[in-house]
Parts: sequence; C-alpha cells; structure tokens
Amino acid sequence: MNTVGAGSRRVSGTDVTKVVVIGGGIAGTAAALALQRAGYDVTVYEAHPDTAADIGAFLTLGSNGMRALAQLGATDAVTATGFALTSLRLLDSQGTEQARGSLGEVTDPALHYRCLRRGELNSALQREAARRGIPVRHGVRLADVSNGPDGVTAHFADGTTADADLLLGADGLNSTVRTRLVPEARPGYAGQRIYYGYSAAAPEGDPTGLITFVRGGESTFGYAVSPAGQTYWFARVNTEALPADGAVHEADRREELLPLLRGDATPAADIVAGSVGPVLATNATDLPLGTVWHRGRALLIGDAAHAASPATGQGASMALEDAVVLAKALRDLPDVPAAFAAYEGHRRPRVERNITVSGGMSRAGHGSARPGLAVARPAEPDAALIRQLAWDTPLSAAPPKES
Ligand SMILES: Cc1cc2nc3c(=O)[nH]c(=O)nc-3n(C[C@H](O)[C@H](O)[C@H](O)COP(=O)(O)OP(=O)(O)OC[C@H]3O[C@@H](n4cnc5c(N)ncnc54)[C@H](O)[C@@H]3O)c2cc1C
Repeated sequence: MNTVGAGSRRVSGTDVTKVVVIGGGIAGTAAALALQRAGYDVTVYEAHPDTAADIGAFLTLGSNGMRALAQLGATDAVTATGFALTSLRLLDSQGTEQARGSLGEVTDPALHYRCLRRGELNSALQREAARRGIPVRHGVRLADVSNGPDGVTAHFADGTTADADLLLGADGLNSTVRTRLVPEARPGYAGQRIYYGYSAAAPEGDPTGLITFVRGGESTFGYAVSPAGQTYWFARVNTEALPADGAVHEADRREELLPLLRGDATPAADIVAGSVGPVLATNATDLPLGTVWHRGRALLIGDAAHAASPATGQGASMALEDAVVLAKALRDLPDVPAAFAAYEGHRRPRVERNITVSGGMSRAGHGSARPGLAVARPAEPDAALIRQLAWDTPLSAAPPKES
C-alpha cells in the first residue's frame, strides 16, 4: 500500500499520491505548484526542449490571475518580469478618447494587471517549480494515455512511460490528452486573426502602466508601452482563418496589416511600421461549450479544457485560477470523483462565460460595442471568487447558488 501524504485522496480504493502533469505551460506549471502545496508528489512533462522563453505573444494577467498566483506564493517570481498596467483608455478611429478608467484592483500592487511575454511567464513559473524541487522534464512529448481502474499511464513519443494515480492534461489548445479522452471536442475558428509584435515606436506622452484600445475602422488595436520604451501591440482583424488552425505563422505580416490601419487617425499604423522583428499572426480559436473535462483518472485544465478567443485577455488568468481550485478540490473533498465534480462545478460556469463573452467579441468584430473595456469585466473578482481562490478557505462540494 502506498504511503499516504498530507494531500492524498482515495480513488476506487487506491490512495493517490502521485500526479503527472502533461504540459509545462501556464496551467501545468501553476497546477504543479498548487498540488505540491496540497501535499502531492507531482512531475511535469513538457514537450518543448527548453523553457520556451521565446514562444508566443505577450499577454496580460488580470487581477484575478494575480490573486491566484498570490495563493501559490508565486507573486515575486512573476513580478520579476514584465510590467504593471493600472489604467486603460479607449480611442475611436479618429484618435478621440472615448473612455478612460482604472484597470483591475489598483490598491494592492500584488494584484495589478501585468503585461509580459508568454514565454517569460512560462520560464518564471518553471524556475519557481524547479526552486521548490518539482521535476519539470523537458523534451518529453505525450503520445497516448491509458486510463485504467487502478492507475493512469502516460505514454511518451520516445517510448518511455510514467505511471500515476492522476494525470492532468495541461497541454494547451491542441491537447493530445484531450484527443485521447474526448476526440469529438475540436477547437474552432472564432472569426479573427490576431496580429502582434513589439515596436520601437512609442507614442509621445503615453505613460507606462496605461493600456490603450483603439476601435479602428477595420481592426481592434491595443498597445502598452513598457518601462524600457518598447511598445507591445496587438490587432484583431475579422477575416478568414490562417491555413493551420492555432499555429503562429512565421512570415512577417506587416504589409498585410498596415493598409487596414492606415485609414485611422490613430497611432496604430506608426506603431506597427516601427515593429522590431516580424509581425506575427495567429487564429483566434475556442473550444465548444460543454466539452467533457475528465474521464477516469485524467482531467483537462487550462486551454486544453476551455480555450477561449483572446479578446477578453483572460486565458492565462483562467489557467492560474484552475490550478488553485483544483488543488483545493483534491485537498478538501473526500475522494477524487467528488473532487473532480466540485472542481467542475466551481469552474465551468466561469470559464464558459469567458468563452461566450470572448467569442462573442471576436465574432462580432471591431464594430462591437466594447472592444477594450470588456477586458476588465470578467476579471473583477467578486466575493465568491475571492473565497474560491483563498487557499485557507475550504472548497465547498458545490458553488453557492447565484441569486
Ligand atoms: C495571440 C494570443 C494572445 C493572448 N493574449 C492573452 C492575454 O492577454 N491574456 C491572457 O490571459 N491570455 C491570453 N491568451 C491566451 C493564453 O495564452 C492561454 O490561455 C494560455 O497560454 C493557456 O495556458 P495553458 O498552460 O493551458 O496552455 P499553453 O500555454 O498552450 O501551454 C501548453 C503546454 O503544453 C505543452 N505541450 C503541448 N502538447 C504536449 C504534449 N503532447 N506533451 C507534452 N507537452 C505538451 C506545450 O509545449 C506548452 O508548453 C492569448 C492567446 C493568444 C493566442
């Protein structure tokens, strides 16, 4: 019989101590930090051969994501990189300011929105995991999962295997774990291409800490100036999908995007023209509502379970919330089926609201009523979310009924 650790729970008569996490991105690494904190023995398997510091666009973590990080004691690890955002404004296509306001929870610096590259966030979380003694194995790609009554086995492309009591599929939008558990769940195009880049052109007088959204004639554009004077920017454009769903296309797409921005009297075109390095593009993609999240001893989290279009800027924050709530569920519920059910009960309404709102914004296009301000909406933590995330507050078997 296994030695039962502090966080161990019983599944079908077997004590759970060992968890394998597939994917060392945001969801997987954060889940590993949370599960270790709850007393589990966790190993992360990541397909990328190194910490993947150069992968991906920049992203913003909302106050809700920063709150989740704080529960993991990982605030300092993440705030060592990127920069804080505390206000936002909305411009129309003539550059006229339509709205301005504070962004997120501004009174507590640990909860300020944060802007950083996805690779920087991955690296920061992986370094923190390594510092805490959590094994993160790089260059190991999951190929298959066998889900038995007494255990789960991860089969890797190099022929090796790992046995565990639980397996978490945190392997992102194109999850292999999902294709093995629920092959019918397929991501779909949400109607927009996302262009992004980093520019040497910083609009005069724009302070750091401000993110600007521009409702342009043919795009929704956003940018923020880093303390080093580099402008991080994105543009969302309603058009047909790029050929390979979800893939970042390495071609420089500057000349494709610029004509769509030139008709506006805003800083967008100059920012894009001043980009350092290529202008990249990817498809906005989301998963259908109701995607099954678990079978047997395997559970999907993060984008693997509930990828949303990036319009609300909440995918990474949702992944961080998942990590905390899952570890609390396994810690506080009497057995794994109950823990999975509680986790899903707490998480599904929230993440599916994000899929719906974000997908709605993308599909409605740049003419939609609130291209930027909606960024703040799903992120504002309410009392129920604060309780859900608070590490020392036990997780209830079911979320309280909404009044
Ligand atoms: C253009 C764009 C802009 C975005 N902007 C924002 C934003 O501003 N704010 C925000 O919160 N979110 C944003 N997002 C969404 C955010 O990036 C995702 O929600 C987030 O990365 C999800 O984290 P994850 O860990 O679930 O998946 P991922 O970050 O995709 O990580 C999955 C990991 O699994 C690994 N992996 C994949 N397959 C295997 C395998 N078979 N075996 C082992 N490992 C594997 C991958 O290498 C990767 O490291 C944006 C997304 C895009 C595309």
